[in-house]
Amino acid sequence: MIEQKIKAAIRDVHDFPKPGIIFKDVTTILQDHQLCQEILDAFVERAQGMHIDAVAGVESRGFLFGLMIAMKLGVPFIPVRKAGKLPFTVKRKVYELEYGTATIELHTDAFTPGSNVLIHDDLLATGGTVTATSELIKEMGGHIAGFSFVVGLSFLKGEEKISPISDNIVVLAN
Ligand code: IMP
Repeated sequence: MIEQKIKAAIRDVHDFPKPGIIFKDVTTILQDHQLCQEILDAFVERAQGMHIDAVAGVESRGFLFGLMIAMKLGVPFIPVRKAGKLPFTVKRKVYELEYGTATIELHTDAFTPGSNVLIHDDLLATGGTVTATSELIKEMGGHIAGFSFVVGLSFLKGEEKISPISDNIVVLAN
């Protein structure tokens, strides 16, 4: 049910950010506060039993529901940012993209070592971004409690890539 509502709400944008790509625009979900509430409730329900100590949200659309999930669970939020955005001392991870590399950073004091961290993002494509995020969190002494996404592009097989890290994977719409 929620899957159909999410699919109906998101918009396909052709040739963004470059020709040939069909970009899933999830910002249209934000126009429907009732759907946002249902999405949040679904995430929180699925997070029960995962023993989450903190939620890490990936810049920038992972911040939208990530902070709300953290607040509902009563745990800290960890902003995972692109290179050069965080002002304090950082730990970084460089990871491979289809063409080139990308870098993510965390503040060195972003969470307490030993924490069970839920990694949240708006969309799961190849799984490269959240895999790099999980590696960085583990290098900093965290454990991966699971992953959550509003949308998954199942044909890119991201779930297969991340399932060895944690089999707690929530994708609300595939
Ligand atoms: P992955 O690393 O290949 O799984 O790509 C996922 C990351 O790219 C997430 O941070 C998404 O926000 C972003 N992304 C990739 N494709 C799309 C899309 O079609 N819509 C929205 N975000 C996307």
